[in-house]
Amino acid sequence: MFALFRSHPDGLTKTEVARLAGLSRTAVNQRVEALLGHALIVPSSQDANTGGRPADRFDVNRHRGVVLVADTGATGMRVALADAVAGVLDERHVPIDITDGPVKVLDQVTDRFAELLAGHPRSEVLGIGLSVPGPVDAASGRAVNPPIMTGWHDFDIAGHFAGRYDCPVVVDKDVNAMAFGEHRLTHPETPNIVFVKIGTGIGTGLIVDGRIYRGSDGAAGDVGHIPLAAAGVSDPPVCRCGNTGCVEAYAGGWAMVRDLRELGHEVRSVNDVVRQAHAGNPDTIRVVKRAAGIVGTAISDIVNILNPRKVVVGGQLAAIDDVLFASVRQSVYGRSLPLATRNLSIVPSTLGDRAGVHGLARLVTDTVFAPDRIDGLIRGRAQR
Ligand SMILES: [Zn+2]
Repeated sequence: MFALFRSHPDGLTKTEVARLAGLSRTAVNQRVEALLGHALIVPSSQDANTGGRPADRFDVNRHRGVVLVADTGATGMRVALADAVAGVLDERHVPIDITDGPVKVLDQVTDRFAELLAGHPRSEVLGIGLSVPGPVDAASGRAVNPPIMTGWHDFDIAGHFAGRYDCPVVVDKDVNAMAFGEHRLTHPETPNIVFVKIGTGIGTGLIVDGRIYRGSDGAAGDVGHIPLAAAGVSDPPVCRCGNTGCVEAYAGGWAMVRDLRELGHEVRSVNDVVRQAHAGNPDTIRVVKRAAGIVGTAISDIVNILNPRKVVVGGQLAAIDDVLFASVRQSVYGRSLPLATRNLSIVPSTLGDRAGVHGLARLVTDTVFAPDRIDGLIRGRAQR
């Protein structure tokens, strides 16, 4: 029943709960008392402008505890402190080098967490969320042969926090967290979404029926490393993963940097590509268009398989919106089945580089407040 309160941010009365849950008034009274006893819900604030009698309405207790999250990338991470309803209270962006390995990077994460917690005792931490730029085994929460994360393979990420915090630790792939953030905050009414990140690499997060679709092991949606049969290419480029001819090896940000350097341009990073595209450099525009067309090819395959309602495009290169989106759209609509594109829209990310922390905060609160955990909490107390 706590899930009902969580899905109704404006609060609920006991009468509404009885109707929505199909429970008797007596049962509702008992459960509401239990949730109040565990400080999971609170009477709606007196000055809430809800119109109803305040004492009759109940909200999730956003002060029940806090959540710590870190969305790590290749060269930077965003860390945030959120409340019990995943509202971000404080956040910051910090440079890191993911190739420093897990111990050094996770020590930086714990240092930042300590800063964010200032004033909150560690016992208030309900859960921790961490996302990484590489494939994560869904069962163990460990990175598996991540191409750009030197030293992270099979490292016990959750275990690193075990001595410091007594709470669940959720670990996921960065694009999954971003997809989930976009879904829950920007497109909550759209249950089937494909989130595509076009940054240094290329990745997708799949939202199916409102949940992250990870596949059997966590490898679902890794389009960046699907081998592409590019017409007329006899010598496919080598990818960061060690294979040749991956989508990313043609169309990732790093591949664009490579192609522009070969053309004699001084580009050091994806940011330089974005800057040159905005300045209207013809070579850069051509490289971006070609890459966007290739990404569109990969997206059209996903669209044909999953039939999503929305494709949300994020990552640094999404900033080149006019050129990039036109090419992606052309490619997707040209290659997908008419029924799959009839109601499809391809839109830019709204949350930008904050999608990850928002998604993580929601993943953590969903885990911490999962119905079986709440039942256990309430039953544990009753038995004692
Ligand atoms: Zn690859």
